[in-house]
Amino acid sequence: MPRLSEVIAALENLWPAERAESWDAVGTVVGDPGMQVRRVLFAVDPVQEIVDEAVGLDADLLVTHHPLYLRGTTTVAASTFKGRVVHTLIKNDIALHVAHTNADSADPGVSDALAGALDLRVVRPLVPDPSDPDGRRGLGRVCEPIHPLTVRELAARAAERLPATAQGIRVAGDPDAPVRTVAVSGGSGDSLFDHVRAAGVDAFLTADLRHHPASEFMAAGTPGSPALLDAAHWATEWPWCELAAAQLDEVSDRHGWDLRVHVSKTATDPWTAHAASTARPSPTTAVPGSAVRAPSDPDTSGAPN
Ligand SMILES: [Zn+2]
Repeated sequence: MPRLSEVIAALENLWPAERAESWDAVGTVVGDPGMQVRRVLFAVDPVQEIVDEAVGLDADLLVTHHPLYLRGTTTVAASTFKGRVVHTLIKNDIALHVAHTNADSADPGVSDALAGALDLRVVRPLVPDPSDPDGRRGLGRVCEPIHPLTVRELAARAAERLPATAQGIRVAGDPDAPVRTVAVSGGSGDSLFDHVRAAGVDAFLTADLRHHPASEFMAAGTPGSPALLDAAHWATEWPWCELAAAQLDEVSDRHGWDLRVHVSKTATDPWTAHAASTARPSPTTAVPGSAVRAPSDPDTSGAPN
């Protein structure tokens, strides 16, 4: 049975802390290096629900993608959301380790797992890490579908293959446009728009796309510019948990450790319900000459709900 320090060393080998972005807070948040580790749980978010799951599982180590504390704090009082998480972890002898942007840029990393879930072949990083001589690490991935498909079909595939969320998949652009190349980025991706445009891909699948950046991106486009597909943040990063668990399993086998590695299936996307619009745009609000029609209109059935 390995000690926490040995398991952490293995995790650091997969996702070195020095490869995290400068603003990030990765590494071990809670844990005694000498404690023994039998059970590990992987999850996206270090929230109370997930910590309770780790307690129920009798896990010794929780590994999450998102940091618990991104900035400093002056309290871990159990009366605070994050303080309660810390209390529950310590009371139950559970360590917490975070692999965030160091897992994003790893090879394989978060966007490789996303591409894998969508059956896309990874060609290269969208934003290569300049410190990687092999050009394999970096943020986002440029991919190719194994068989040709349209934007609509890619959206339907994402809706089917990514874990279910209330949001589903939102689409901007022509649903019938062919997708021969697609950029993907797990988590919030609108900071990568310039790279997406420069990559010359047909579509970009990511999460957390905001009104203004998305609006400007689409307006700046010429016909044939990339379509946008927006999934729930949690859903785009969850596939990494399975990849990461498999990686740790492999390390565990190599060392002959008796380690049980689990992946949380608990959806921690904060959005829990969705109502599709049913109102018809009124003649006074519809833009003259535009293609605005009610969502029920069969010839605009672009995005799946
Ligand atoms: Zn994220």
